Amino acid sequence: MVEACEEVHSALHRRFKGDLLRPGEGGYKDARAIWNGMVARTPGLIARCADVSDVQNAVRAGSEAGILTAVRCGGHSLAGFSTCDGGLVIDLSRMRQVTVDPSARRARFAGGCLLGSIDTATQKAGLVFPSGVVSHTGAAGLVLGGGTGWLTRRFGLSCDNVEGFTLVTADGSVVRANAKENPDLFWALRGGGGNFGVVTEFEVKLHPLTAVVLAEGLCPEPRIRPLLQRWRDFMGEAPIDLKWNVDLRLAPHAENVPMELRGRPVASSSLVWTGDPEAGRPYLERALAMCSPASVSSKIMSFLDLQTMADSAFPHGRRYYTKSGYFPYLDDSTIDRMVEAVATIPSSETQIELAYLGGAAGQVAASETAFGERSAPFIMNLLANWSEASADAGHISWIRGLFNKLRPAMKPGVYVNFMSGDEQDRVPEAYHERWDRMVAVKSHYDPKNFFRLNQNVQPGKREAKS
Ligand SMILES: Cc1cc2nc3c(=O)[nH]c(=O)nc-3n(C[C@H](O)[C@H](O)[C@H](O)COP(=O)(O)OP(=O)(O)OC[C@H]3O[C@@H](n4cnc5c(N)ncnc54)[C@H](O)[C@@H]3O)c2cc1C
Repeated sequence: MVEACEEVHSALHRRFKGDLLRPGEGGYKDARAIWNGMVARTPGLIARCADVSDVQNAVRAGSEAGILTAVRCGGHSLAGFSTCDGGLVIDLSRMRQVTVDPSARRARFAGGCLLGSIDTATQKAGLVFPSGVVSHTGAAGLVLGGGTGWLTRRFGLSCDNVEGFTLVTADGSVVRANAKENPDLFWALRGGGGNFGVVTEFEVKLHPLTAVVLAEGLCPEPRIRPLLQRWRDFMGEAPIDLKWNVDLRLAPHAENVPMELRGRPVASSSLVWTGDPEAGRPYLERALAMCSPASVSSKIMSFLDLQTMADSAFPHGRRYYTKSGYFPYLDDSTIDRMVEAVATIPSSETQIELAYLGGAAGQVAASETAFGERSAPFIMNLLANWSEASADAGHISWIRGLFNKLRPAMKPGVYVNFMSGDEQDRVPEAYHERWDRMVAVKSHYDPKNFFRLNQNVQPGKREAKS
């Protein structure tokens, strides 16, 4: 691998406009790190591209040398796919341009953008691109995998709002994919992750919105079970203006948390209402009626504040492990298992995250994009979050144990962006009846599987779906 890295370096160094960083060189140490502290790897060469031709050159050189290659936007892959040991990292963090066309309600953003840079640019025109809930997340990985967030029910998944992609494919060509040009590739890129090439530009639809109502509350034991039942029954009929997420966790030792709840199991509700605040009031009040009154709050919030309010809860460099799945229905015994599990949760930042999709995301036909399940609206993410390597085994086994208990009630399927690095066997499950089409597109655009550090669709690998 060392030789291959040197081959790539010498192929690139005369014409590369960005930075080429090797171990021991200035800037390498910082450039090496990705968000998940569990994944500490040492690439042989980081090629931080300045423009599309740098990306083309890096792809061609990597491909000719046959070197293991990772692609990085924000470095937030929970699975750690945006780095590797000894290989090449194509890093897009210098490519963060955003252009907004307010009258057309459209934007173009480059393949290295973080969500925050898109939000800041689009809000200047009073517009939003529906994306995720933490502003330091990379947009490319998020959008290519699907992209869920506060606006998913109102405006659809992030990938549902993409009208076109420009990418560099495995042979170094620049290819466009949209409804008219390469429609199969356009289909596959909306949910298919990094399998098909390095996306250098996204063209997206925007929507008018500058503020929302945010309501929050903590529901203590023994009311967690009835709260989850109410949430389950309520969301199927709820207006698309409402997003209600519930996290099961230990209440933090924070000033705004009533003393008697701190460190105790709670269901933490966060509700975002995107419509007229007065129209939303009855829904929000009803939803929070079971919460501890001292913990309930409701306020109008700017969209930019909403998008950054969770940033500090998921810092870079901590250790994270996740497992995820969909439920067609949240039956009472599944609720019981989740509630019981909170009593044994291994750390205060670890949580069971529950969201309800439906709304605009649920109205898109399953065959329209590669993105997985849309018919099972309950999405669960088990997310462990801790700091010490000595606690790895305890956290990982708690997540795996709980996942195995809940698995029988799930519908086959998984959101690729909420998968860990040890779940490659679930990738066919993620695409399910879309698998053969995914394989066909992959085989056409990347027959040698150059882009394989991702939730990988192997070319030519048609197989029975679980
Ligand atoms: C703190 C945090 C919050 C999150 N919140 C949400 C959320 O609200 N909603 C949600 O849906 N998901 C969320 N996620 C999951 C997130 O969607 C994925 O982790 C996603 O992969 C992050 O994208 P990235 O660009 O930062 O990833 P990276 O680690 O840079 O890359 C991830 C994958 O995408 C590929 N990739 C990256 N850039 C490109 C590109 N330009 N072209 C082609 N392939 C590329 C890589 O090859 C790799 O396989 C969150 C993750 C974290 C860590």
